[in-house]
Amino acid sequence: MIEIKRLSKTFPTAEGTFTALDDVNLTISDGDIYGIVGMSGAGKSTLVRCINLLERPTSGQVVIDGEDMMALSTRALRERRRSISMIFQQFNLLMQRTCLKNICFPMEIAGVPKEAARKRALELLDIVDLPDKADSYPAQLSGGQKQRIAIARALASDPKVLLCDEATSALDPTTTRSILRLVQDINKRLGITVIVITHEMTVVEEICSHVAVLEHGRVMETGTVEEVFSNP
Ligand code: ADP
Ligand code: ADP
Repeated sequence: MIEIKRLSKTFPTAEGTFTALDDVNLTISDGDIYGIVGMSGAGKSTLVRCINLLERPTSGQVVIDGEDMMALSTRALRERRRSISMIFQQFNLLMQRTCLKNICFPMEIAGVPKEAARKRALELLDIVDLPDKADSYPAQLSGGQKQRIAIARALASDPKVLLCDEATSALDPTTTRSILRLVQDINKRLGITVIVITHEMTVVEEICSHVAVLEHGRVMETGTVEEVFSNP
């Protein structure tokens, strides 16, 4: 479970300070597909960086499985960060490496032996339904296929949480649906908690069970998708 408690983040500016996140409270249960929706500038990226432990909040807590992340050493934080994987709008694949080598990359960093990494990467290519793309380069793939490779790479570190940051924003509606179905399938089959950050309500409506609406750094509403999106 991820608990965001009274989290605020301010940035220094020429005029004083700017509040990017203001007293944010969220509870994300294990196995959930949780949507965080908001317009540009709402504070989504800042919240993502706080959840994936890249940014220290100004105040408040990020508690993961009962453990306060703010209380951990830098070294322990780096270790915890490995249980949270991300996918992005621009895929962020390494263009000079084959798909297989892209998927192996996080395992290489973690010190997994080459042959074991290769075997796991091939399994992951099956999971994302691109078994014949091991030796292709990212430039030879469509956007949807690139995102599938990025998903395989994200899964290579056996994460507990998959953070999807505008992961379908560069894709057409049909491809978006197929990527969302894959994410849903991964959530069910592998039991990975999914957090979906997006400016698109339709994405949230399509796969999320719970949603938080972020506006000007504040959580305006939280609840099930039905509760938040039903028109009274
Ligand atoms: P979103 O991802 O929803 O578009 P962001 O989290 O990127 O929102 O930004 C929220 C607000 O915080 C924006 O107004 C942005 O300009 C401001 N902001 C983000 N990072 C910084 C920073 N490092 N310094 C100053 N202001 C920032
Ligand atoms: P993005 O465009 O990905 O949302 P930003 O432009 O908001 O990122 O931030 C750029 C960089 O500044 C990031 O690497 C972020 O970690 C760093 N950063 C943000 N806030 C702070 C801060 N308060 N102090 C130091 N570095 C910061």
